[in-house]
Amino acid sequence: PIQTQIGLMSHEELTSEHESQSAKYTQLQAQKLALDLTRGKPSPEQLDLSAELLTLPGDGDFRDGSGTDCRNYGGLTGLPELRAIFGELLGIPVANLLAGNNASLEIMHDNVVFSLLHGTPDSARPWAQEEKIKFLCPAPGYDRHFAITESLGIEMIAVPMNHDGPDVVKIAELVASDPQIKGMWAVPVYANPTGAVYSEEIVRTLASMPTAAPDFRLYWDNAYAVHPLVGETAPSYDILSMAAEAGHPNRPLVFASTSKITFAGAGVSFFGSSAENLAWYQKFLGKKSIGPDKVNQLRHLRFFGNADGVRAHMEKHRAFLAPKFELVLRILEDRLGASKVASWTEPKGGYFISLDVVDGTAKRVIELAKNAGIALTAAGSAFPYSTDPDDRNIRLAPSFPSTAELEVAMDGVATCVLLAATESRLSEI
Ligand code: PMP
Repeated sequence: PIQTQIGLMSHEELTSEHESQSAKYTQLQAQKLALDLTRGKPSPEQLDLSAELLTLPGDGDFRDGSGTDCRNYGGLTGLPELRAIFGELLGIPVANLLAGNNASLEIMHDNVVFSLLHGTPDSARPWAQEEKIKFLCPAPGYDRHFAITESLGIEMIAVPMNHDGPDVVKIAELVASDPQIKGMWAVPVYANPTGAVYSEEIVRTLASMPTAAPDFRLYWDNAYAVHPLVGETAPSYDILSMAAEAGHPNRPLVFASTSKITFAGAGVSFFGSSAENLAWYQKFLGKKSIGPDKVNQLRHLRFFGNADGVRAHMEKHRAFLAPKFELVLRILEDRLGASKVASWTEPKGGYFISLDVVDGTAKRVIELAKNAGIALTAAGSAFPYSTDPDDRNIRLAPSFPSTAELEVAMDGVATCVLLAATESRLSEI
């Protein structure tokens, strides 16, 4: 490990450090690796934890508790018993929670599209008829959120993300004066990619702040509500009640899914909101579908049994995930701690670690890694328009590779970070 901060090295020390990292990098390339840290996918071992789903609900089992034949059409709201389980976990009354198909992203996308085409219950006209629509985007944030708004022509405004949530002083100021700001993306618990958990105060401010747009919406994506990496799970604050008490019952749209609980590609999604919003959503949803895949919902109901079944299942995921996160954090500390060329988050849950390297070098690090056979998430992807203004952020996704692969990949990433940092410093002095 480097013992001196790179910024304090003499030209001579830097040159020698650069040579040593270049030699390490040459060795790295010689290994001809093919490793992938790009996306937060569950590992095959994690998917195996839900293997029983492949045979559930089982021969002759197709009715839920109320006698509904799950094989048939209908039931737009989803199975009540499964909604009750996730309602308990998310802190949402069953009546305010729908269960859908396999992707919560689809429900988010639908909400934006329905708002554009029809307007929300609080809109004067369809959003598409407004001169301009804007969304606030806490950044770094989730690239697929930003991809939805970008693809639909909604202007995105980046707002800084802190360890306890986004900068609400800035947000409150923006929404108070600009009626074109119609929405905000939020991952309130174990955020993608920083792992930040929104504080109660920040949640309350977002729920209650005055907005110039009467139809302002919080896209509250609680994707990681039950995904702790430590013993205690962070609270999911009751955003629906907080907003209703503040006189904004239709403001929050809450999303979740079992994508990182059971099968990422074959789980169940959830949508929680006010009665008025749910009726509005179902009016349009009912035109694109006669009902969700209730057999899959029944399978999940049988598999979990109750909310404690979900919690116990998440403990098994944690046993696979926590050591991988510990490994990544240990390598980052061992290789980069003393040289002060990087900082990173230490998430207590979720799927990602957010790594900040020397300003202006993230693209270079990602390129170096790629040329050594280590795929990292594209530079800037955690920012609106894929543009990281400081070219410093890299999202690390430790879940998918095996521990052995992860160790090799992260050691390689650390070499790339150091090589890029010494290159950049040498070019400055
Ligand atoms: N939201 C967040 C914050 C995520 O990180 C992910 C998966 N990476 C998703 C949503 C995707 O959810 P789904 O599979 O339910 O569409």
